[in-house]
Amino acid sequence: EELAQLIDSMLRDVPDFPLPGVLFKDIAPLLADAAAFNACIDAFADLPAAFEADLIAGVEARGFVVAAAVARAVDAGVVPVRKAGKLPPPTVSARYELEYGSAEIEVPVGLLEGKRVYLVDDVLATGGTLAATIELLTRAGATITGVGVLVELSFLNGRQRLEGQDLTSLLVL
Ligand code: 5GP
Repeated sequence: EELAQLIDSMLRDVPDFPLPGVLFKDIAPLLADAAAFNACIDAFADLPAAFEADLIAGVEARGFVVAAAVARAVDAGVVPVRKAGKLPPPTVSARYELEYGSAEIEVPVGLLEGKRVYLVDDVLATGGTLAATIELLTRAGATITGVGVLVELSFLNGRQRLEGQDLTSLLVL
């Protein structure tokens, strides 16, 4: 598809980042290109799951960029999903396993109760981050309308961990 090809042409492959053996997909060139960035945001904003949401949640830090732009396009608010220790209380947190070690994320309590939330991030890799985020948003009282990512690294099977969710990936690699 045309948009997928455009995104693919804007990614920069960075070998051995952040660890030896990992081929990192750098999305900075995509965000820096006005036409490509706009096309991605428009694609999300056209989805019922996005335009029916009260809030767009983005995962720190690249997810914030996507979330804020989608929120403007669908006239929704934004909620940050942050690394532990950054948000003032009250928050709820979840710890989850990464390929190496573990991580902890937090969302604000109070803003999410009874809200319909569309969740976005830049890249779906193993799915650990988004699965933990969904659990967290749900625990905070939100209903997830869907999940959107710019790029899905399908060989890491992250989609399996988001079973039951309406997942949109603008580019599947
Ligand atoms: P997970 O393995 O939990 O799906 O991904 C962990 C986090 O790292 C996600 O927030 C994702 O955006 C980021 N990430 C993992 N691999 C890549 C990559 O190749 N490129 C970029 N830009 N982000 C990545």
